[in-house]
Amino acid sequence: MKRTQAVRATGFVLHDHQTTVKTRATLTGIGVHSGNPVTVHFLPADADTGIVFHLLKDGHLSNEEGGHEFRALVSEVGATDLCTMLGDPAGAHIGTIEHLMATVFGLGIDNLIIEIDGSEVPILDGSAMAFIDAFDLAGIETLAVKRRYIRVLKPVRVEAGASWAEFRPYDGTRFEVEIDFESPAIGRQQFASDINPDIFRRDIARARTFGFMKDVERLWAAGYALGSSLENSLVIGHDNRVINVGGLRYPNEFARHKTLDAMGDLALAGARFIGCFRSYRGGHRMNASALRRLLSDHTAFEIVETRRRERGRVAEMIAVSRPVYAPWVI
Ligand SMILES: [Zn+2]
Repeated sequence: MKRTQAVRATGFVLHDHQTTVKTRATLTGIGVHSGNPVTVHFLPADADTGIVFHLLKDGHLSNEEGGHEFRALVSEVGATDLCTMLGDPAGAHIGTIEHLMATVFGLGIDNLIIEIDGSEVPILDGSAMAFIDAFDLAGIETLAVKRRYIRVLKPVRVEAGASWAEFRPYDGTRFEVEIDFESPAIGRQQFASDINPDIFRRDIARARTFGFMKDVERLWAAGYALGSSLENSLVIGHDNRVINVGGLRYPNEFARHKTLDAMGDLALAGARFIGCFRSYRGGHRMNASALRRLLSDHTAFEIVETRRRERGRVAEMIAVSRPVYAPWVI
């Protein structure tokens, strides 16, 4: 084991042991793309399990019965077109996992079994609030095994046209997300913050999915977004105004929702990162490709855990072997 540089103990680093849920919790809703009802159960899991989805068919998990198991890892991502999807878009899959995974990241849950009886996580109100309520009801349990982090050691960047995303070394876990839309209803806006469970609940979790009326009409015609409505999306009308009666939950709700999405996509690393993630005009595809780029360069990160803390503010980190559930051992 090699000692490595100390970090300020903020946010996630303050909680240096792995967690799971205390008891089972259940959520029901509809899928935004299928419009079909779906039920999700959250179950406790042992340390080093990671986040695992069980797609049940008629209550069964086995392949023969049509059930499937997916680990929530970027290596299992099969599509990033309208949402982030695990599995095979033409076969067994689970879509729209990003808001649930953002909540898992934001609340600091490391190990969880997610049973689901449909191919899409419910959209609920388009934000992370209902997931938070479910996990608050279940409670969070601390396990005896240390949590491991992916510590970013050097900048890693991906670009596509005017869009880019990058990881940078940083003493904490931080997101800086900027978007730039032609529509004056959105325009150019940014959200930048260190992340911990309190900040996630207060500043990010309530931000909703958004879309343009013209796109929704096109998607409906193609058989997508069948569950999409003003109950679960912020919609910008043909006159370039938000048409939801209640208006925005935050002045820059759009940038905050993109941050929520990025948290969900980066939760597929298999461990939380210590570093700063920045993106400009990003999206699910860009988030996944930045994460793949980081994890494919072994000189760009190390796996660390807390060895000890001094005065509760500074954590001495040590480099450790890689977690069994993480993508870099596949
Ligand atoms: Zn989203």
